[in-house]
Amino acid sequence: MAAKGEPLINSERCKGCGLCIANCPKNILEMSKEFNSDGVTFPTLNDEETCTACTFCATMCPENAIQIRRF
Ligand code: SF4
Ligand code: SF4
Repeated sequence: MAAKGEPLINSERCKGCGLCIANCPKNILEMSKEFNSDGVTFPTLNDEETCTACTFCATMCPENAIQIRRF
């Protein structure tokens, strides 16, 4: 299925809680192996083709670190 959007992740706002990863129905978010300036790992997109722009990840984020761009 063609992607309908993509999550824009502000790594500097991220606190590394993992809620976005756990709640993505497509399982396309995973923790980075890099760290932000607070020493926290943050989510990255592992598949650019299947985001449905459902916004679950953005809704779950307590830090408001994710915005969804719709195509
Ligand atoms: S918008 Fe939905 S499908 Fe896309 S990354 Fe977030 S939770 Fe996953
Ligand atoms: S829900 Fe927000 S704070 Fe938690 S890991 Fe995802 S982007 Fe980071």
